[in-house]
Order: sequence, then C-alpha cells, then structure tokens
Amino acid sequence: MTVGAEAKQTILIIDDSEDDRDVCERLLRNDPHISQILKAETGKQGIGLFETVHPDCVLLDFNLPGHDGLDVLRRIRALNDSASVVMLTGEGSEDIAVAAMKAGASDYVVKDSLSTIGLRRAVTNAIDKTALQRKIASQQEEQRVFLRTLLHDARAPLRHISDFSQLITEDIEAGNYDEMPEYCGDLQIATKRIEDLLDTLASYALAETDVTFEPVDMNVVMKAVIANLSHRIEERQAVVRSDTLPIVKGHAPQMIQLLQNLVGNGIKYCKADKPAIEVTVNASDADDVCRFKVQDNGIGIPADKLSCVFQPFKRLWSHDVYEGTGLGLAICQKIIKRHGGTIWCESEDGQGSAFFFTLPRAGAMREDQRMAS
Ligand code: ADP
Repeated sequence: MTVGAEAKQTILIIDDSEDDRDVCERLLRNDPHISQILKAETGKQGIGLFETVHPDCVLLDFNLPGHDGLDVLRRIRALNDSASVVMLTGEGSEDIAVAAMKAGASDYVVKDSLSTIGLRRAVTNAIDKTALQRKIASQQEEQRVFLRTLLHDARAPLRHISDFSQLITEDIEAGNYDEMPEYCGDLQIATKRIEDLLDTLASYALAETDVTFEPVDMNVVMKAVIANLSHRIEERQAVVRSDTLPIVKGHAPQMIQLLQNLVGNGIKYCKADKPAIEVTVNASDADDVCRFKVQDNGIGIPADKLSCVFQPFKRLWSHDVYEGTGLGLAICQKIIKRHGGTIWCESEDGQGSAFFFTLPRAGAMREDQRMAS
C-alpha cells in the first residue's frame, strides 16, 4: 500500500561524511516523488533543520561525532513522535540496527551496500509507515470520541428509567396512583430512545461492512423509502416527490438507508404545515457521476453548523425539541464514502436545506462487474 506517496517529499540527510551525504543525495536525486534534499553535517545542525523544515523523512548516520545517532534520533522523536527516520548503519551492525528500531527508527540501511532501489524503497516505506501510523492514531481517537459520546447519550435515558421506576415504586408503596400513567409514558419514551440508539448503532456499524455493488434503480429505492416512511408522511401530511432517477452503482439496502435518513430528516426538521421534500438529480446520460439533491422546506441549518452535522452524535436541538440519535447524517456520510462519492449540505437558518450527494452511474460499471452482479 502506498500512503502519502503522491505529495512531493523533503528529505533531510544528517551525516558527518561529505562523501556519504553526496552518495545519498545522488541516489535520491532523480526520484520524482522528492522535491527537496537538505543536508546537515552535525546532529545539532540536523535537529535545527528538522525543527524548521519538518522533512518527510530523515536519513540519519548512526556514527555522528559529538552526538551519537541514537541520541539525535531520540531528540527528533521528542520533537515529533511520528517522524520518519531511516538509520544509516555500518556493515555487520545488526545490534545497532535493533537499537535504532527500538528507539523509533522506521527502518535502517547498511551504508556499504547502498543502492538507488534500496535507499528509495527504505525512504518510501518509512514515509508510508508513518502515514499509516498517523491514520491509525486518528481512527483510534475518532473511536474514543465515538465511544465517549455513545456512553454519555445512552446514560441519560437509562437514568430516566431508573428515576421513574423509583418514583413508581414509591407511589405504589404510598398507594398513590394519580401520576402512574404519566410515569409509565415517560418510561416508554426513555426505552424507545435506547431502542432507537441501538437500531441506529447497528446501521452505523453495517455502513462499514463490505458490500457488493450492483446496478441499483434509484426509482425503486425511492418507492421503498416512501413505503418505509408512510406513517410519518401521513402523520405530517408531507409531500415527497422525485425526478425520474438514474440507475447507480451501489448497494441497494444502503441506498434506501441513505435516502430514508435524508427524506426523514426533511420531514422531521420542518415547522411548515406540509413538509415538502423533493429529490432531484443532475446528470446527463454521458456523465459517469450523478449528483442528487434532497431539498426540503424545513427549519434550515445555520451556515456555521453545516459541516459539523455530519459528525457522529452532533445534534443542533435537544431531545425535547426534536428526537433523534445524531447518527443519521454520519451514516449517510459513511455510505457515500464507501460508494466513492461526496455528500454536503447547503442551507440557511429558516430557509430549508438542500443535501447533495454524488454516486457513480451504473453505466460506469465494467461489463464483468455487471455479469458478477
Ligand atoms: P438526528 O436527526 O438523529 O439528530 P442526524 O445525524 O440525521 O441526526 O442529523 C444531525 C443534526 O443535523 C440534527 O440533529 C439536526 O440538528 C440537523 N439536521 C439534519 N437534517 C436536517 C434538516 N433537513 N433540516 C434541518 N436540520 C437538520
């Protein structure tokens, strides 16, 4: 896998031997991914350059006068714990190589057997490894935030259930049944909130699983969405209409989930007597990508909140005003990402919202993919 190999890279060579610095530079000079090669002859100079230039990869000689290479490596890692460093060692110095890797070097190369292919490979691998580590760290952080918010959101209805059960028990003991129907209603609301949270969590997890893409008729998807939302459409006297929609390359259940979340939100976040939701598409037969638009006449979203509504659990209203889990749009974003598209929103406070997303047209599928599906 090549991560981050597209951008032009800056390489810093730290080596006290001018000959060795020149050899490294010569071997890397014609690499099309490298835009800049900087050289330092002491550890101090190298650390200074590292701090100001932030190179993508450091080639670091193990035997530096004054500082030893491991010391420089540690200082570099203290400045940036995910820096890519390839240690340059002498022949037969496996112990040094092991020590360097333990101290956080991404890789090592033996100076006496330097080759263009070997050195470039070491640099590319080191940069890829760092990019991958950063990606994993950011995913782990995302998961931590997700879990923290989930636990917080699940605790509130659980606390309500516990509180109302306590009140019911006390009232039964006191022979007071006046407020029983109200407490039981509140218990049901809190239980429903947990049920909704679990259902949406299952959808969120499913949006990550591997699915097969096949031609999906979005008109059929639209019919399923209207059938699934029929109760809410009737209740709110909503009008849901759509263009003749194209056949896209996708996963039908996820397409239903996507449009259902967007149309459902259009009905929910609306104060008009008749919510009006329109699903249109902007694509000619020649286009490989179709751009869909789901327009509503609802309460709108303030401009500064447009990007954050796609974050998991991000809600602009409390439960008492509009119920929900805050995962609907995060699921839509995951689904669209899996399908290679993008999703965004345009809206103004009080002016209705337009959600846009792109999907590949089924015509863009290769013949063998069609046969397989
Ligand atoms: P939920 O509806 O469960 O809260 P979503 O992820 O679907 O979660 O939406 C996140 C937030 O974005 C909602 O809480 C709401 O504040 C806002 N939002 C989503 N869709 C709309 C819409 N069509 N009109 C106005 N606000 C919306």
